[in-house]
Parts: sequence; structure tokens; C-alpha cells
Amino acid sequence: MPTGRGATIRAAVSRGVGLPPSIEDLHLAAPGPDEVRVEVTACAVCHSDLSYLDGTWATEFPLVLGHEAAGRVLELGDEPTGDHPGGPAGNLAVGDPVVVTLVRTCGNCRACHRGHDVACTGDLALNDCSPLADADGNPIAQGLNVAGFAEQVVVHRSQVVRLPDDVDPLAASLLGCGVLTGSGAVTNTAGVAAGDAVVVVGCGGVGTGALQAARIVGADPIVAVDPSPDKRASALGFGATHAVDPVAEDVGAAITSATGGRLADHVLVTTGAPAALDGAIDLLAPMGNLVIVGMAGDDVTMEVAPSWLAAANKSILGSKMGTIRVADDVPALIGHHRDGRLDLQGMVSTTHGLDDIAEAFDEAWRGDVLRTVVLPNGEPAPC
Ligand SMILES: [Zn+2]
Ligand SMILES: [Zn+2]
Repeated sequence: MPTGRGATIRAAVSRGVGLPPSIEDLHLAAPGPDEVRVEVTACAVCHSDLSYLDGTWATEFPLVLGHEAAGRVLELGDEPTGDHPGGPAGNLAVGDPVVVTLVRTCGNCRACHRGHDVACTGDLALNDCSPLADADGNPIAQGLNVAGFAEQVVVHRSQVVRLPDDVDPLAASLLGCGVLTGSGAVTNTAGVAAGDAVVVVGCGGVGTGALQAARIVGADPIVAVDPSPDKRASALGFGATHAVDPVAEDVGAAITSATGGRLADHVLVTTGAPAALDGAIDLLAPMGNLVIVGMAGDDVTMEVAPSWLAAANKSILGSKMGTIRVADDVPALIGHHRDGRLDLQGMVSTTHGLDDIAEAFDEAWRGDVLRTVVLPNGEPAPC
């Protein structure tokens, strides 16, 4: 059990589908064993937040959303009791800058032993009991394991990765979910290799992470598909060699042309929009992978002809959070960022204070930003 008294923090509380968030004072419990309290410097708005807010996915209310964050360690819980050999947060100290992700691992279950962080089935205290309560003592759910649209969070140590001091926290926040998911889909789920032909359908934050990862591993061509002219233009700046409008153009013909007729080795669908799946399997070369990255609504289904999968050795792969291992993938991406190969600053379109979070949600809903980032404690000092 936590031994401290906890803290009073300001947070954006969502109290029902379609309701604007309200800024409230909440009680945040002190970190328990294996937990850490973090001051949130930056928390980006991810499409998953919106899917809960608009009722696409069911969730419990009230809750605080926000799960793509960076900040600074304020307090460590009691001595770790978990079994996290080499875990990402093994040597944390108060004051350390960190990335916070939604992926929480016990280190002890079958999935963890196999390195499958995203499939952890461990029984952790935070899974059962939110650290947040409102002024009347009523529990407030910790949306997506973080509740980052708040001045502070309490998360499990496995969710936290130490950042080098010279990394901009606004940029680093994107490593908490979107970029991690897109790049992991390329490198982990699909196993894209140099020279592979890659198609990325949907060029928001996750898709842009996928494009950059495809460029880093040397894929060629890299074809971006998005109905938004702005997104297509930005895709070309983040690694795409071709950009296709799925509304005005024949995507199949465009992929045939871009690949010299051999079609795609990997098609990554990063949006949950049902139309994005239409015909996606037909873009694949024999042995190709269709990778489902974006989370569609709970009622969306797709039809495939099994004989086509068998006859051409095509595969459909699900990619939860890019099948990432936090301890390996986040540091690798930080390295790419510091080497100048992964542009994160360029993906931050706008920033907002906590009081203006409704505006951030509106921008993300309209889809006119790659990423909008909420700064719950105001503008951070330059690093
Ligand atoms: Zn997310
Ligand atoms: Zn586990």
C-alpha cells in the first residue's frame, strides 16, 4: 500500500460520452511499491483518447484520459518488489526526465517472460485500483493506464523510461504511444527489411511514425495513402516516396506503378476507418503482410477470401502498440531521434495548456494536426 499522503492535482476529467472535459482538483494517491509519481511536462492527444470520448469504444466514466506523455520523476514508491530484471525504470531517481507509456508489465507472467509486453496478463495494483479520486472521494478512472491530462500521474515503473537530459520533452512525449506504435508495426510486427515495398494507409501520428521507421530501415518504395492533402504533403516530408489520394486516385494502379508491378510487401493500415481496409489485401505481393495497426470500432468487421491468403502466402497480422517491448523500443527510438533520423519536433503541430484542452481535442477530431500536445504545467523550460 502507498505510504505517503498523495497530492492534490489539477486534471481534465471526462464525465461522459460527448461531454467536454472539466478541469478539477483531484486527489492523486502516493506511489505504491513499484510505482512512480511523475510531473507531466507534455501529453499528446492520441486518437484512442477520442475513441473513448466519442463512444466508439466503451469505457467507464468519469475518467482522465491522456497516455502519450513525458515528464519528470517526483517520487518513487517503496523499494521495488517486482521482478523486472533489466526493466526500463530500474535505476530511476527523483528529478529524472522520463517518457511515460500506457504499456504496463508485471515482468512475471508468461507474456512478459516471452517479451510480449503488450500481452501482459499480470495482476498489478494499478490495474484494480485507480490512484485518482475527486473532491468528494469518488474514484476517477485512470484512462489508458496513465491519465496524463493532469499535472501529475502515478504509474507503474514498467511504464517509464529514462530520457537523456538533452531531449525535448514535447518531442519525447510522442514516444509514449503514437510513434512507438507506428514504428513498432514496421520493425516488430511486419519485420520490414531494406528494399521492401511498404504502403502506409493513414498518415496521422501513428502513420507518420510508420513512415519514418520504414525510411530508417531502408524500405523502398514507401507509399503513403491518405485522403487529406495536408497529410499527403507531410508524409512526403517524413519518408514517403509516393503519396496517393484514395478518393481521387486508383490506389491499386498507383501501388502497381510505384512498385514496378510487384506490389507491396507490407500494407500497414494505421487508421480505424473501415474504408481503409477495402481492397488492402489486393495491394499485397505474394508473401506480403497486411498489418492492422489502427483500432477500428468494436462493430467493424472485414471479409477476406481465405483461398487468396493460402494461394499467395499472404498474412494478416494484428499489431497492438507495434508489438513493442518498452525497454528495447523506446530507447532505440530515442537513439534515432538524437541521431537526427527520427523527427519528432516536426510532428508537434500545436500545444495547449490544460485549461484549453477542449481546443486540443477539437483540433485532433478535425484531423488537421499530426499531434497536438497538452502542457499541464505550462510551457516547459528549454532543455
Ligand atoms: Zn495512443
Ligand atoms: Zn506480465
